[in-house]
Amino acid sequence: MSAPKKLFIKTYGCQMNVYDSERMAEALGGEGYVETKTADDADMILLNTCHIREKAAEKVYSELGRFKGLKAEKPDLKIGVAGCVAQAEGAEIMRRQPLVDLVVGPQSYHRLPEMETKARKGEKVLDTDFPEEDKFEQLKRRPKAKRGPTAFLTVQEGCDKFCAFCVVPYTRGAEVSRPADRILTEARDLVERGVREITLLGQNVNAYHGAGPTGDLTLAQLIWELDKVDGLERIRFTTSHPNDMMDDLIEAHGTCKKLMPYLHLPVQAGSDKILKRMNRSHTAESYLRLLERIRAARPDILISGDFIVGFPEESEADFQATLDLVEEVKYGTAYSFKYSPRPGTPAAERTQVDPAEAVDRLQRLQALLTRQQREIQDSMVGREVGVLFEKPGRFAGQMLGKSDYLHAVHVADCSRKIGDLARVRIVSSGTNSLAGELIE
Ligand code: SAM
Ligand code: SF4
Repeated sequence: MSAPKKLFIKTYGCQMNVYDSERMAEALGGEGYVETKTADDADMILLNTCHIREKAAEKVYSELGRFKGLKAEKPDLKIGVAGCVAQAEGAEIMRRQPLVDLVVGPQSYHRLPEMETKARKGEKVLDTDFPEEDKFEQLKRRPKAKRGPTAFLTVQEGCDKFCAFCVVPYTRGAEVSRPADRILTEARDLVERGVREITLLGQNVNAYHGAGPTGDLTLAQLIWELDKVDGLERIRFTTSHPNDMMDDLIEAHGTCKKLMPYLHLPVQAGSDKILKRMNRSHTAESYLRLLERIRAARPDILISGDFIVGFPEESEADFQATLDLVEEVKYGTAYSFKYSPRPGTPAAERTQVDPAEAVDRLQRLQALLTRQQREIQDSMVGREVGVLFEKPGRFAGQMLGKSDYLHAVHVADCSRKIGDLARVRIVSSGTNSLAGELIE
C-alpha cells in the first residue's frame, strides 16, 4: 500500500471557511490524502482565502511567494487557492503566481477530486463557476471518525442584501438554503461522532428557508427539528441580519432549551444616514426595538455585533451616534473594522474618510467595546453556567470549555472529560477567560 498523500490547508476568514476547509479535506480524503499541520511535508497545499477586507489578495500572493523554495525542492507539490479570493481573482492568480496549479471558488469545491487528478497530470485547473448542481448534494456523506464536541454546519450560503460595502453577494453568490433533511442527517452524523454543540452557519443564517417535508422551514423551525436530535445538547447560529429576525426565532430564544443565550446581530453603524448609505434597510431605532423584544424573550441573552467605522461620508456626529448606540445596547463581544473599499462594491467609488480619522474612531470604539465586554465578563462571577468541556488546560487536571454565553471557562482539578456538559460556578474573571468550579 502506498503512503497517504499529505494535505496542508490554511484557512483565512470566517467560520464558513473553517467549515469549507473541513469539507475540502474530507473530499480529498477520498483521494488518499490525510491532513498535515505544516506546509513543509505536504504533497498538496490549499489556501482557503477570504476577500472581505483590504489587502486580502496581496496577503495571499505574499503567502504563495513563500512556497517557491518548497516547490523547487518538490516539483510534485501541488498548490491550490480556494475561497473568496479565488472567486474574485480567478485566472489572474495563475498569471501573477505561476506556481499555482489550481484555483477553486467556494461553490465548486466538490469538484476538487477531479481537479486534483488533472493537476497531477500537469494541467493548470481553474473552476470558479456557480454550477447548476448543488455542491452539498455532490459531496460524499461525511466520514464517521470521532471528532471534538463542537462543529459548524453550513445551512445557508450567499446573500441577496447587497450592503454597499460588502463583497459577499459577488463572491458567494445568491442566497441559497440547504434542504432540512440533509442538514438533519449531517447533524445526526456529527452527533454520532461525538459532537454535542452545533453552530448553524450562513452569511444570512436567519433568512434560512430550506425545503422541508411540507414546505419551506424557517430557521426557528429547523432549530426545533434539531432540538429533537438525541445527544445534541447545544445549538447556536451565526450570522444574522436584523431584518430577518422573525417572531418565531425570537420566541425560540425564550423556549428552546438547547438554543444558547447568545446572538450575533451586526448593526454596522448607529447613524441612520450612514445605515441608509450602507443599504442596510434598518435604522438604529428599529435595531434597538428589536433587541428589546429579543431581551424580553430571553433576558440574559449575550449580544454580539459587527461595526464598520470610517464608512464614506461618516461625520464625527455620525460616529458619535454609533458610540451612543453601543452605550445603549451593551455588547458582550463585538468585532469592529475600519471601512475597507472593496473593488466592485458601490461604496468603493465614494468620497473616503481621512484614514487617520478612521483609525482614531476605530480606537475610540474599540476602547468602549472592550470596556463593555470586560464588564459583562466580570458580571458572570458568582453565577452558575453550563460549560461544555472541549480540551485539557495548560495545568495538570485542568479542563477548558465554553459557557452558554460563549465565554472561555477553565476548571481546575476537573473530574469531567472532553464532551461533558457540566454546571459550573464562576469564581473569578481573568483577561480572556473565567475560572469556575464544578457544582455537585
Ligand atoms: N452577513 C453578515 C452581516 O450582515 O452582518 C456579516 C458578513 S461579513 C462576512 C462580516 C463583517 O465584516 C460584516 O458584518 C462587516 O462588519 C465586515 N465587513 C464587510 N465588508 C467590509 C468592508 N468593506 N470593510 C470593513 N468591514 C467589512
Ligand atoms: Fe454582506 Fe451581510 Fe450585507 Fe449580505 S447582509 S451584503 S453578507 S454584510
